[in-house]
Amino acid sequence: MNDKLIVSVATTGSWPTRRQTPHLPITPEEIARAAVECWREGAAIVHVHVRDANGVVTADKALYKEVMDRIRAAGSDIIINLSTSGGIGVCPEPERFYPLELKPELASFDAGSINVRERVFENSAAFLERLARAMLENNVKPEIEVFDTCMIFNALRLAEQGLIKPPYFFQLVLGVAGSQPASAKQLFHLVESLPPGAPWSAFGVGRHQLPINALAIALGGHARTGMEDNIYYRAGELATSNAQLVARLVRIGRECGREIASPNEAREMLGLAPVTTS
Ligand code: ZN
Repeated sequence: MNDKLIVSVATTGSWPTRRQTPHLPITPEEIARAAVECWREGAAIVHVHVRDANGVVTADKALYKEVMDRIRAAGSDIIINLSTSGGIGVCPEPERFYPLELKPELASFDAGSINVRERVFENSAAFLERLARAMLENNVKPEIEVFDTCMIFNALRLAEQGLIKPPYFFQLVLGVAGSQPASAKQLFHLVESLPPGAPWSAFGVGRHQLPINALAIALGGHARTGMEDNIYYRAGELATSNAQLVARLVRIGRECGREIASPNEAREMLGLAPVTTS
């Protein structure tokens, strides 16, 4: 119950635009700077999407690499989690494997298909098997993103085949239009459906971000924040930075008796090798 709290931050995502908020990091330099600021505030994991020169989501390997290199050049040991979502229907399937070639410690693994707003987020069983194999071959740990209860069991089927190795790290995603609701009841159902002892984290999108984070903290889970999921600090007030959202989550975690996990403490909990930066 009193395990240290792993704070993840998703700085950019594929949906938010600069028109919606001028504070969204878009270029590799901005994304890396935001990641380092969040790390200084207590984030142990940064979940990365990259955008092209027009601000459109892309799976461009060079852009991902630039973000990774800039974060490490700044002396940060934050765990880097690259997205394999391809921006939901934007990047053709082969491109979704590009980030794995950079061998990040973590990459998102969206464990099934759903509707997301007006798009279909397609992750067929055959695709998931290929993705799990590619992650295993590249020594990338899947962050199993769960948009619906069935995705827990999709991932566990792959684990039974030896394609996902324990400890399984689940990221529970609530409140995306087209998927499961951001309710306490749904979060409890998901948590009760997880294999015992598996580390898990949760977030809601939009106005559900902080309430689901708070519930996850109370239940002994971990929490993710950031502008990918919500661009507001409170109703009607834009967040001025990702670090502002991280700082609040860290305060709430500590007030609830959860100390904050450093990146290497998070690595230990997730079964990743420790990293030293120079
Ligand atoms: Zn993402």
